[in-house]
Amino acid sequence: MSRIAYVDGVYRPHREAAVHVEDRGYQFADGVYEVIAVRRGELLDERLHMQRLRRSLAELRIEGAIADRPLGLVLREVVRRNGVVNGIVYLQITRGAAPRDHAFPKTARHVLVVTARRNRQPNPKLDEEGIAVITIPDIRWQRCDIKTISLVANVLGKQQAREAGAYEAWMVDAAGYITEGTSTNAWIVTGDNLVVTRAADHAILNGVTRLALIDIIRREGYGFAERPFTVQEAKAAREAFLTSTTSDVLPVVSIDGAIVANGVPGSLSRALRAAYISHAEGI
Ligand code: PMP
Repeated sequence: MSRIAYVDGVYRPHREAAVHVEDRGYQFADGVYEVIAVRRGELLDERLHMQRLRRSLAELRIEGAIADRPLGLVLREVVRRNGVVNGIVYLQITRGAAPRDHAFPKTARHVLVVTARRNRQPNPKLDEEGIAVITIPDIRWQRCDIKTISLVANVLGKQQAREAGAYEAWMVDAAGYITEGTSTNAWIVTGDNLVVTRAADHAILNGVTRLALIDIIRREGYGFAERPFTVQEAKAAREAFLTSTTSDVLPVVSIDGAIVANGVPGSLSRALRAAYISHAEGI
């Protein structure tokens, strides 16, 4: 089945899908996006993604964008046309195309792009053996709560992780606290079995997986705290893990080469991963 993309009102073959050279997303990264998991053909936690999308659009003052219901129809149609049963659907809304000028154009109309992709072959080694992270300075701007397509600092960070043989880079703020990964949220489990993740301030993206997992943690009655933690605390933690739409819940077993949780996925991380996967499968 050949891939289909939706670009500004039209369904097109993926390889021919393109936006204008003066699209403000292309020139200024002036836009927002969402990545939604598709499980058994359904959009996982759609409402949470829509709420975050509306918030991101409002913060960037992109007005008049497509409403939730018609957007939901386009997302489902792209999923259907691409034959995606398990995978992701990507959507991006930019401020539109206009002659290059930093200030908002008077007449531009937002541009919506939607693509979908089947899941890559999962690598069971990652969750069975756990993954390594490195830590790097957080060089991003002060509104990381907005899901903008401006991701160059995240790109550089992820590449640094790859080159170090790690799965992810956890970014560290000026005070020495971990903010989040380049495309994931960061978590630890303390010696007294408290699950800890940073509160959703302006320094992190409030992950939909993070929100869904907090719900599960509360429901199952695990000890939980939203507070920042340092690199030192993470390295000494009983367990560590990360969350995202594309990674689910993945145990972390090494930070900057220091072994965490005896170098094997911790029991709480494994239990939370299983509970999250049940949620995602709708079980
Ligand atoms: N933080 C950042 C910087 C991200 O890019 C992502 C993934 N988009 C996340 C956290 C995790 O968010 P989600 O659980 O919604 O995928």
